[in-house]
Amino acid sequence: MQLHADPVTVIVRVRPLLAAERANGDVRTCRCSGNTLVLDEPESPHMREVLQLRENSALMHAATPLASYTFNFDHVYPMSSSQADVYERTALPAVQAVLEGFNATVIAYGMTGAGKTFTMEGTSGDREQRGVSPRALEHIFEHIRTCTDGSKRFLVRASYLQIYNESISDLLKAERSALAVREDRRRGLYVEGLSEWVVRSTAEVGRLLARGQSARATGSTRANELSSRSHAVVLVVVEQASVPPGAAGANGGDNAGYAAAGGGGGSGRHVCVGKLNLVDLAGSERLSASDASGARLQESKKINTSLSALGNVVAALSDRANGRLRAHIPYRDSKLTRLLEDSLGGNCKTTLIALVSPAAHAFPETLSTLKFATRAKTV
Ligand code: ADP
Ligand code: MG
Repeated sequence: MQLHADPVTVIVRVRPLLAAERANGDVRTCRCSGNTLVLDEPESPHMREVLQLRENSALMHAATPLASYTFNFDHVYPMSSSQADVYERTALPAVQAVLEGFNATVIAYGMTGAGKTFTMEGTSGDREQRGVSPRALEHIFEHIRTCTDGSKRFLVRASYLQIYNESISDLLKAERSALAVREDRRRGLYVEGLSEWVVRSTAEVGRLLARGQSARATGSTRANELSSRSHAVVLVVVEQASVPPGAAGANGGDNAGYAAAGGGGGSGRHVCVGKLNLVDLAGSERLSASDASGARLQESKKINTSLSALGNVVAALSDRANGRLRAHIPYRDSKLTRLLEDSLGGNCKTTLIALVSPAAHAFPETLSTLKFATRAKTV
């Protein structure tokens, strides 16, 4: 069965100008309308100097941008869009696919400060502002709670990992050894030694993810910086089993967590498994020349390994969907793409959310993010 024709849905979200940017007199570069985004290249600082020298010239008032770039995507979320709006079109279809037994991936891409973590996690403590991940999990548990098929039993497991310097580690375990991606016939693709936690409610997952987030920060005096330089992946596996009425394990009320009660996958059960990957990528910005030395340079190269491999895989998938023959999808080129191999393309639902800042100072990174997103959408 084919899930859908389009292997990758590409969505762009423009965040509002932040108070500090407004205070700096940063101007907006993005104009959104429908599925179209127009990016205006601001005057360069050099141009501004030139213009200031000719204070009284007509040029001074010519607010026309240097150039304008027009992009089309599956959807563009303007500055005014809410977290609920964004969820509707991004994770909602992905979660629906997972509940039907497909794999799905939602990826947040963009420069540091563009809104990846805001979009994926949201602001803790403010319900209106909760992001894609908590909403996805609420949706899953709501589906389980309201399921009217009395023979269905659900098991939801969550894991949380990070990829830093092309090395995978478990954010929910004290021990931080490097983990390997493996594949076998029984388990499919998996991360060897990664802890999996059976969860029964959104609150339980919330506590788990909060623990992972604080683990992400420990051991580093530059916590914020580190989180912008590592990829974080929340993995949620939803297993559904149909149990004949009266069979062991069938019960009223609590139908989440069947395996916790008696071990999953017994004989005669029909088991359907879907996997959801929620990915908050490292910042896509390039290091400035002065920063790019020694360990930082190595780190930067490794961030780029995963990001450019992701770009190549997604572009190859789009090419294939557009009828251009591609024998090879280069999943093995990075840890990130290897990890997501069974959840990108093919019969999976992949959503790329490109986050951009509308501030003039971010123009070069905004342009490069929009180019990356366009390449994911090759037609
Ligand atoms: P990233 O994870 O991409 O580095 P963040 O999500 O941390 O970026 O966002 C940077 C700042 O911008 C934060 O202060 C965040 O609260 C704010 N922000 C991002 N997106 C939005 C938005 N859509 N609406 C309001 N504030 C936002
Ligand atoms: Mg972040």
